Amino acid sequence: MARSTRKRLPRCPICGAVTVREHHPFCSSRCADLDLANWFGEVYRVPAAEQDDSAAPSEEDS
Ligand SMILES: [Zn+2]
Repeated sequence: MARSTRKRLPRCPICGAVTVREHHPFCSSRCADLDLANWFGEVYRVPAAEQDDSAAPSEEDS
C-alpha cells in the first residue's frame, strides 16, 4: 500500500514554479538572477537611508 503518491517538489521562491536541479533552489537561472538582484537592491537601499545629519555638532558654546 502506498502511503501517498504525492511528490513534494521544491518550488521556486520567486515564481513558485517547480525547481530544476540545475538551478536549485530556483526554477531557472532567470529567477536565480532575479533573487540576487532583489538581494542587492535591499543591500543598496539600507545605507542610503542612513544619511542623516543627526551626528553633526551644530551647538557650540564658546
Ligand atoms: Zn522561478
